[in-house]
Amino acid sequence: MIDAVERPSSAPRAEALVDLAAVRHNVTVLRAAAPKSALMAVVKADGYGHGAVPVAEAALAAGASWLGVCTLEEAAELRAAGITAPVLSWLHLPDDDFTDAVATDVDLSVASRAHLAAVTAAARRAGRPARVHLKADTGMSRGGAQPAEWPILLDDAEKAVADGQVEVVAVWSHLANADVPGHPTVDAQAARLTEAWEAARRRGFTPIRHLANAAATLTRPDVHFDLVRPGIAVYGLDPLGRPPAESALRPAMTLRGRVALVKRVPAGEGVSYGHEWTTQRDTTLALVPVGYADGVPRRLSGRLRVLLGGVLRPVVGRVSMDQVVVDCEDGVGVREGDTAVFFGPGDDGEPTAQEWADELGTIHYEIVTGVHSRRVTRTHAGVAG
Ligand SMILES: *Cc1c(COP(=O)(O)O)cnc(C)c1O
Repeated sequence: MIDAVERPSSAPRAEALVDLAAVRHNVTVLRAAAPKSALMAVVKADGYGHGAVPVAEAALAAGASWLGVCTLEEAAELRAAGITAPVLSWLHLPDDDFTDAVATDVDLSVASRAHLAAVTAAARRAGRPARVHLKADTGMSRGGAQPAEWPILLDDAEKAVADGQVEVVAVWSHLANADVPGHPTVDAQAARLTEAWEAARRRGFTPIRHLANAAATLTRPDVHFDLVRPGIAVYGLDPLGRPPAESALRPAMTLRGRVALVKRVPAGEGVSYGHEWTTQRDTTLALVPVGYADGVPRRLSGRLRVLLGGVLRPVVGRVSMDQVVVDCEDGVGVREGDTAVFFGPGDDGEPTAQEWADELGTIHYEIVTGVHSRRVTRTHAGVAG
């Protein structure tokens, strides 16, 4: 992925246009939904495919005070960009080297004795205490320490704190079903988190408590606690799957490509691999050099439309690795070099990532994180200042 801030004189062949004004707007919406809690903008997976550093900067400008990432490499990228805000990194191997993370003030999630030992070893090497967030498994059975392990983890943490190697910053967990309104496991997970947090407090720690993802940030003020951790909503995609028109959020990403070739094709010709579509009449076909390697799922073959020349037009035949073919009928208003919009906020009638996800039986998270090809130029618009 090439990141570009200024638009080159000729627009790129394939482009993910990211609207940072939308990111700032979305963070403002999320802040208003959780006014009493700090806000951690989650920028893992290269900012859900939107570019971690520019999104982080936009989110911080709009009132986020923390950043959340999955890996040490993702945390290091933020620090290398000069971002000094608190960063939490949460998915590690016990043999990861945490030294640079501790040295650069990256907060680390810890969910086992082995991970805590690795972090304290790194703290010794870095010559300063590591800031840890103890993660409790409150009922997702993914990351986090099981309740039976919690007292042992707290024992180790107490020793590490006494040795000056660790600061217990937080006790935290992650919700399994926050996107389903009224789901009973939200309450159960919140109660278990509070038990784990109270147990830590009885050891003399004074950790903050955090649990809420984007869905809970928008719908469950009772579990906001000290800090909320929205991801998907920062990018303007509704965590409950509501269409953009029904949401205060603004989708930030537009995926588009430029027409490489326009030609007339007679009736009766097969189009693309497998000839799954045949011209019914003489028609104009436009070739757009964006394919499944660029984030257009092949499974959308036969079900995809793009906005081209102000009209929604069908993509015909199979989506190839590198390109798609658009049926433009009489071809009026379509020229080589024109821009075809694959998905965007929907304002001009273009499809949305939500619609793609619905069509595929998946979630929009998978659509936007799927746009990560080095062939797609990522352009950031709405840069503040
Ligand atoms: C990805 C992630 C989030 C953000 O989730 P969204 O559903 O995108 O809001 C929050 N916390 C953790 C631990 C995550 O892994």
